[in-house]
Amino acid sequence: MPAILLEGRPIAEKIKSQLKEEVMGIKSRFNTAPTLATIQVGENSSAAIYLKSQKKFAKDIDIGFQEHPLPASTSEKELIDYIEKLNSEKSITGILLQLPLPNQINAKDMPIHINPLKDVEGMHPENVGQAIFGKMRIGSCTALAVMELIKSTGVDLYGKEAVIVGHSEIVGKPVSLLLLDKFATTTTCHIATGQRGYLPTHVKRAEILVVAVGRPGIIQGEWVKEGAVVIDVGINRVGEKIVGDVEFEKAAQRASYITPVPGGVGPLTVTMLMRNTVEAFKLQRGR
Ligand code: NAD
Repeated sequence: MPAILLEGRPIAEKIKSQLKEEVMGIKSRFNTAPTLATIQVGENSSAAIYLKSQKKFAKDIDIGFQEHPLPASTSEKELIDYIEKLNSEKSITGILLQLPLPNQINAKDMPIHINPLKDVEGMHPENVGQAIFGKMRIGSCTALAVMELIKSTGVDLYGKEAVIVGHSEIVGKPVSLLLLDKFATTTTCHIATGQRGYLPTHVKRAEILVVAVGRPGIIQGEWVKEGAVVIDVGINRVGEKIVGDVEFEKAAQRASYITPVPGGVGPLTVTMLMRNTVEAFKLQRGR
C-alpha cells in the first residue's frame, strides 16, 4: 500500500501561528521581543537561501532579526570575540552561527563560545548535556523537526525498532538521543556500518527509519520494512532536482509514512529554530 506523505509545511504553519501568539504575549508582558542575531562569515549561496527563509519567518512571527555579516578572512579569535560581544548584549536573545564557515575556523569548536541560554541551535555542550539527562531546553533544530514529523503520525515509539543512518552532531546523534528518550530501541548506523555492508541488515528491521547521510538513493526501496515510518533528512542536488537519501518511489510502496524531499523535514527546521529562539528568550527572562 502506498505510504501517507508526511509533509512538513502544514505542521510548520500550525506551530508558526502558535509562536506568533506566544510572541504577542511576550511583547505585552515584557515590552520587548525575542531578537535573533545571525552571524555569517563570508558569502555562501545555500546559506543565503536559508538566511532569507529565517528572515521571513522572524518577520511573520514578529520577532527581531539582525544580520551580522563578517568578512571571509575573519580569524577564529575574531569570530569568538564577536560572539562574546553579542553574548553580552541584553537585547540579543538568540545567536545563530550560519554554516559553512571558512576553512580557518573549526565549526565544531564554536558552539561552546555562545552563551548556552542564547544557543538557538542547541549545540552548546551544556544544552547537549541537558538532552542526555532528558531535560532538553533547546535542541538541534533538525532533530526536533524529525521528532515533530514522527509525532504527527501518532505512532507510539515505546519499544519500537528505530534505525538512524548518519551520526553527525547536528542530526544523527541528537535524533538517536531523542528517540532513545522515548524508549525506542535505537541503532545508529554510520560510514563504518556502510563499509562493512551491514546497512541493509539494520534498515530492514527498522519500524522507524531516519536517514541523514547526504547520498542520493543510499537507502534502497526494497530494504524498507513494510509499514515503516521513513524520515528522509538528506538533501542532494541531482541535475536540476533536489532528492533525498532514500529511493522514494520504491520505499513509498512499502512504508506507512514517508517524508518527501523537498517538503518534508526542510520546512520544519526553520520552524524549530524560531521555536528555540522563543524558548531561549523565556529561559533568559523567566516564563
Ligand atoms: P554529515 O556529512 O555531517 O554526516 C553524514 C553521516 O552519514 C555521517 O554520520 C557518516 O558516517 C554517514 N555516512 C556516510 N556514508 C555512509 C554510508 N555509506 N553508510 C552509512 N552512513 C554513511 O551530514 P549531516 O550534516 O548530518 O547531513 C546529512 C544530510 O542531511 C545532508 O544531505 C544534509 O544536506 C541534510 N540536512 C538536511 C537538513 C534539513 O533541514 N532538511 C538539515 C541538516 C542536514
